[in-house]
Formats: sequence, C-alpha cells, structure tokens
Amino acid sequence: MFASEVVPFAKTGGLADVVGALPLPLERLKHEIIVIMPFYKKTKAAGFKIEDLNSKISTTTIGKKIKVYFIKKEEFFNRPGLYGEKEGDFPDNLNRFSYFCREALKLLKEIEFRPQILHCHDWQSSLVPVYLKTTAQGDEFYKGIKTLLTIHNLAYQGLFNKEEFPKLGLDWSLFNMEALEFYGKVNLLKAGIVFSDAINTVSPTYAKEIQTKEFGCGLEGVLIRRRDNLFGILNGLDYQLWNPKTDKFILKNYDKDNIEGKVKNKEALCKLSKLPSRSDIPLLGIVSRLTQQKGFDILSEAMEEICSLPLQLVILGTGELNYHRILERLARKFPKKLRTFLKFDNVLAHKIYAGCDIFLMPSKYEPCGLGQMISLKYGTIPLVFKTGGLTDTIDKKNGFIFDQYSPSALVAKIKEMLLVFKDKNRRLSLMKRGMGCNFSWTTAARNYIGLYHHLLK
Ligand code: ADP
Repeated sequence: MFASEVVPFAKTGGLADVVGALPLPLERLKHEIIVIMPFYKKTKAAGFKIEDLNSKISTTTIGKKIKVYFIKKEEFFNRPGLYGEKEGDFPDNLNRFSYFCREALKLLKEIEFRPQILHCHDWQSSLVPVYLKTTAQGDEFYKGIKTLLTIHNLAYQGLFNKEEFPKLGLDWSLFNMEALEFYGKVNLLKAGIVFSDAINTVSPTYAKEIQTKEFGCGLEGVLIRRRDNLFGILNGLDYQLWNPKTDKFILKNYDKDNIEGKVKNKEALCKLSKLPSRSDIPLLGIVSRLTQQKGFDILSEAMEEICSLPLQLVILGTGELNYHRILERLARKFPKKLRTFLKFDNVLAHKIYAGCDIFLMPSKYEPCGLGQMISLKYGTIPLVFKTGGLTDTIDKKNGFIFDQYSPSALVAKIKEMLLVFKDKNRRLSLMKRGMGCNFSWTTAARNYIGLYHHLLK
C-alpha cells in the first residue's frame, strides 16, 4: 500500500485513517501487506520505534507483522506540514511526491518484496501505476503486477503547471489529453485514473456520482471511460475508538441494551455548553470541518430559522473564516439555543456524539463520511443530505435524509424530525436500529479482497 499519510504516523484527513486501519483486518484475513509512506518531521517527533534500514529508508511494524517503510529525504519531508503551510501548498509538491513514488517502487526491489497488487491512494501516490507502466516496464521484477487506485476525495487532484512536467522524468508524449494533461496543466490524479488497472472510491454511491458533471470535478469524462473498472467500497469505522460502551471520554458508558446512560451524557454536555438542560426538546450536534462541502452554505442560510425552533444545537468545528464569523454572531444572538466551539477537540467530539439526540450532517457531497457512522453507534440519530456515503449508510430506518440541497428542505426535515422526536417509541426504534448497524473494517477488508481477486483474474 502506498500513501502519503497513515495513522498513527501522520494525518491530515480520512485517507490516513483508512490506510492505518485497512491493513490490520487484511492481515487477520491471511494477506501479506507492506505499507510505504514518506518520513515527515511529525513522524520523527512522535516517538515511535522506527529503525533505519539505510540512509534513505526506515521501517517499523504495525499489527502482527505488517512492515511500514518510510521514504526519507530531509529536504522534501522534514517539514512541519505534510502538503503545505498556512500560506498554501508547498511549491515543490510535484517533486516531493514524484520522488516518493519512484523511490517507493525501487524499494520493493531492494527489499525483494514482489507483491501481486500495488494499492495506491489519492494523487500523491498516483504516479506509482504510471512509472510501473512506463519507466519500469522492461524490468522483469515488476512484470504482471496489478494496480488499484483509491480516490478518497476527487476534489484534490494534484494539479501543476506544464513547466513542471519534465521533473517527472516521463516522455513528453504523455502530456496529452488521454494521459496526464488537464486543460494545459499536469494532473496527477488523472494520471492515476488512466494508468491503474482498477479504481475505487470510498462508497458505492460516490463511485456513481463522480461520473456526473455535478460531482466529477472535471474528471467525469475520464472516469466514465474507466467505468468498467471503477468500484465503490464503503470505509469502515474503528469501533475500538468509537464505542459508547467503552468510551473513556464520556461521562457515562451505555449501549444498545442499556440506553438510559445516554441521558446523563446529554445533561453533562448541556452543562459544559452552558445551555439549559432540557429533556423535552432535542439537542442537535455537529462535528465537522466548517466548509461548503459539509453543507455550511445552506446551514448558514437556514440557521436563524433553525434556532427559532424548539431545539438546541452544539457545533464543534474549524474551517473557513466566513463560517466562523457567521456562527459566532448566531451564538451571541441565541445564547440559550446555540453553542459553538470553533476548534479541533477530539475529546469534546466524543462528548457531542454521546450527548446529543440528533447529529446534523447536511454535506453537499460526501465520499464516505465518518460522522454519521459514529453517531449511529452512539444512538445519536443522523439527519443528512442524500449524497455519497450518506446515501449508503443512512435511510428512513436509522435516520432522517433530505434529498433537495436547499435551506428550506433542510429546515423541513428538521421540522419532521421534531415531530418524530416527541414520539418516544419511534425515536427509540430509530436509535436502536442505528446502534445495531455495523460498518466494520472487516467488512470493508473483505470487499477489498474481492476487488484484489477481481484484478488478478
Ligand atoms: P472529512 O474527513 O471529510 O473531514 P469525515 O466525516 O469523513 O469528514 O471525518 C471527519 C472526522 O473528523 C470525524 O471523525 C469527526 O468527528 C472529526 N472531526 C471533524 N472536525 C472536528 C473537530 N473540530 N474536532 C474534533 N473532531 C473533528
């Protein structure tokens, strides 16, 4: 597996969670995996027992005996950020990640590990299948190896100026619309899509959506051409980290058969949020990046009306400055209704998942989404927009789902939810069905194994 970030060694988003989690059940299911990633400053500082193999490669072990190899290069990776700093992306990202891909392929030969499949993730590893089929083509060692590219979010494509193309060490003939060129620029994700034997995204619905103009981010044409080899596999959730029965961050543990404890968590959360404790009205929660992708455009428009309804709302998130401002203003206006925590805080996230009645996730698009799966497990009924992974995990039996992306449709669904909330039996049945859902990594791993076998046929 090739990835630019892997939990627990470096993380900026869901990609790291997936590549940190998926190898473990694959190993339990008797597959042999190694993981290759860059060696960042953060990785070095985190205090793991990592050994140097030579000046360019270090290694450690996860699971039982899954080797993780780190590609080292001080000038490229020994920086505080993974892809950039506050000012924006690093200007040499093409150099950094093409170096990573070339060295990662070479590493296989050096350690004499010849896998059947190279599983790459996102644009940062997208050059692996390209080099495999071009510069490494004549080499017996790599002959017959298949490639899979997993796309975690199509919006991030690795776009660079044409002038940088020579740094890739590829023939100029590849700079054309059928390969690496994208409207006069170099597009690394597109390269991965074109050169991989198969492609998948992190939910079946998102795999279909990205073949449309609305969700395709300009790559829909390329993806449609590859549709016979384009799949969707839902991510899993790490139930060791997210389980109300064992969660150390919440006031009172509870589970499906012992749901009463949840009330205490609601009271504690109200207290912490300086909201009046009210059992007669629902407490809604949001834990999210504050971006348009997560639905904050329609949410900000609908917020005044939402705050006038009989409910309370706690929001935890950071992101775009304009949403910070809007939410701060609303929180001042509705002190008994709305509490905002504009920061990243994992412990508080646990308390919100446990303490709320309803979890709001009106994402405009959602490749998979973790928030809704976590809230299901915590008996916090999700209210979501019908898109991507939200469509694949939430339905009328375990949550509330609206299918028009507009402030009014969101408000209408919240009003419908308020009616259901009053009906204790219906509310409990939604909660219990949600808590019984199981989106485990073992299921995801079995699906990936199915796809690997398909590739080898
Ligand atoms: P994405 O990866 O697109 O941001 P996901 O729903 O897949 O969205 O995963 C987001 C994860 O990050 C969830 O586990 C969520 O609880 C967590 N998270 C998001 N914002 C915060 C925050 N401000 N504080 C703590 N956890 C957060």
